[in-house]
Amino acid sequence: MSRIAYVDGQFVPHRQASVHVEDRGFQFGDSIYEVWSVRQGKLLDEDGHFSRLERSLAELQIENPRSRASYRLVIRDLLRRNRIRDGLIYLQVSRGVARRNHAFPHHPVPPTLVLTAKSVDVDKAEAQAALGIAIITLEDIRWGRCDIKTVNLLPNVLAKQSAVEAGAGEAWLIDRDGNVTEGSSSNAWIVTANGVLVTRPADNSILCGITRMRVFQCAKSLGFLVEERAFSLEEARLARESFITSASTFVTPVVKIDDQIIGNGAPGLMALALRSTYFKQN
Ligand code: PMP
Repeated sequence: MSRIAYVDGQFVPHRQASVHVEDRGFQFGDSIYEVWSVRQGKLLDEDGHFSRLERSLAELQIENPRSRASYRLVIRDLLRRNRIRDGLIYLQVSRGVARRNHAFPHHPVPPTLVLTAKSVDVDKAEAQAALGIAIITLEDIRWGRCDIKTVNLLPNVLAKQSAVEAGAGEAWLIDRDGNVTEGSSSNAWIVTANGVLVTRPADNSILCGITRMRVFQCAKSLGFLVEERAFSLEEARLARESFITSASTFVTPVVKIDDQIIGNGAPGLMALALRSTYFKQN
């Protein structure tokens, strides 16, 4: 079955879906995006992702082209047209099309809105989570507003490529103080020897993951303690458990960081409990 995308008010065949060469998303990365997981036809953490979408737009002073209700209708239709039960919805809003000039367009232009959808192989994802993933670590070379979900992902792209080349599932980025900020496309967590979950506070140095927020609730319902504080790479290497969170990986255990095996090398029990609770709560 051929895929369908949504571009500026029209459902179009995926292969023909395109934006203008002077779209500011293409020219400058002047664009924000959002990703939802879909399980059994349902959007997970639906409102959380809408809230972050609205925040990202407001931070960049890009006009929000649609209401939540209107986005919801488009997303439902897109899922139906692509016959997706389990998958991902991708949404991007750019500042629009204008003659190339770094400053915002003099006369306001309508934002560009693009949505795509793809299916995910749930069995494959579960098999990966059951094995856990390896992590590599790299210097965090990104800008000072990583809290905004922009499409300026070049450092993240390079980091993920390095992970792939090293046979790892993710790259963790390390700040100047030797602390872990986050993964190239996920938030980073560890479990201390005392069984306390630790994740970095959501300041400008990381994206405040919607899955991360949900995992706080899951942890609470399981009676797990959570500390929001910076943790060093050294502390992570000695952790009892470790995992990543994101809309596309949910809670995925980390079993190796660089050359260091984490715990006994198998996915941690707390990580696995959080993963199953995540699905129950959503
Ligand atoms: N950090 C980065 C850099 C990301 O790209 C993502 C994935 N969007 C996350 C964290 C996790 O965010 P979420 O749980 O909302 O997917």
